[in-house]
Amino acid sequence: MLKKTVRDINLAKKRILVRVDFNVPQDKSGHITDDTRVRAALPTIQYLRDQGAKVILCSHLGRPKGKVAEEFRLTPVAVRLSELLGAPVLTTSDCIGPEVEKAARYLKPSEVLLLENLRFHSEEEGNDPAFAKQLASVADIYVNDAFGTAHRAHASTEGVTHYLPSVAGLLMERELSFLGQATANPDRPYVAILGGAKVSDKIAVIENLLPKVDRLIVGGGMANTFFKAQGLEIGASLVEDDKVELAKDLLNRGGEKLLLPVDVVVADAFSADARHQTVAVNKVPAGWRILDIGPRSVKKFRSVVKGARTVVWNGPMGVFEFPAFATGTVAVAKALAASDATSVIGGGDSAAAVEQAGLADKITHISTGGGASLEFLEGKVLPGVAALLDK
Ligand code: ADP
Ligand code: MG
Repeated sequence: MLKKTVRDINLAKKRILVRVDFNVPQDKSGHITDDTRVRAALPTIQYLRDQGAKVILCSHLGRPKGKVAEEFRLTPVAVRLSELLGAPVLTTSDCIGPEVEKAARYLKPSEVLLLENLRFHSEEEGNDPAFAKQLASVADIYVNDAFGTAHRAHASTEGVTHYLPSVAGLLMERELSFLGQATANPDRPYVAILGGAKVSDKIAVIENLLPKVDRLIVGGGMANTFFKAQGLEIGASLVEDDKVELAKDLLNRGGEKLLLPVDVVVADAFSADARHQTVAVNKVPAGWRILDIGPRSVKKFRSVVKGARTVVWNGPMGVFEFPAFATGTVAVAKALAASDATSVIGGGDSAAAVEQAGLADKITHISTGGGASLEFLEGKVLPGVAALLDK
């Protein structure tokens, strides 16, 4: 379903409540260690300012659990945002109440106000209607640009839409368009690559994508459960015994579509400096564990990616946090980077792996929402998206 965006409405002189995702990582002294999320919101903020709108930003930060907590104040984010915009960013010490109402009333066209952490109120996550109404009361229009929280029905993502005309921001639009294309009408051949630790985390994604894709590559720890379903010995590898039957069923249903690794890197312990060797999938020594895919698998997966027009990737091919077992994941990242297919990455760890490898700018779209992108790939309707006006 296509949603209205900031481009579809008149914004001049209007007060716009914008839900952004400023949930940035910080070190112990409150220094922002990665401002990607702040940067990701800039196109929408800048667009609104260019249109002469009065911009009122709101976000959550961390888990203050419904109470005011100094370490979760958005002040450092306001400072960073102001630097990036090259313009002042006003702040308030709460996200609702008289101070906010006054600040919103006196806001001039193109000015930016950042409200304090939404989650200082338990009503935010509780999606309390009175809280949502109060939040909405300072604005004329609501814009959701926080894809990363759109899978949650909170007051600032769903509740407010009952009180204001609601549209998508530019980042949200981008996420919906690329993830939507990847799930609805992809250019073919369409290849999905799924990895990560557990089958159970990704069952719904596999179920949703299997009928849609031309090829489904399974790697990472979750491939082990499929190996076991094929009757292979997997030593001390991570496995989900209660998912072996499901894996058998998926192997039957998937047939030729489903591709598994043909060789793996096994280690004698789960550690960065473990002894390791590459073996065929039917030669895993007893007591050893699979921590990465091997070079023959990489070659096979690479050739599949090469022929694809659309590739969706979620979940690393191995324990990429240990450099010795990051090779498979980095190789897949490189294959995506080298391909002219539309490449879409969902999932926090897969995105991190691509950033780490320095290949992020060669990928068509890296989703900013880990959990949200996963739910999207599962075919679920995200409440924060459903609540926006249809085109
Ligand atoms: P994403 O965040 O991209 O959705 P997941 O959270 O599902 O990915 O999975 C990432 C985790 O899977 C990583 O921490 C990685 O170490 C782990 N993993 C990948 N392969 C294996 C393996 N063979 N054995 C154990 N853990 C693995
Ligand atoms: Mg993860």
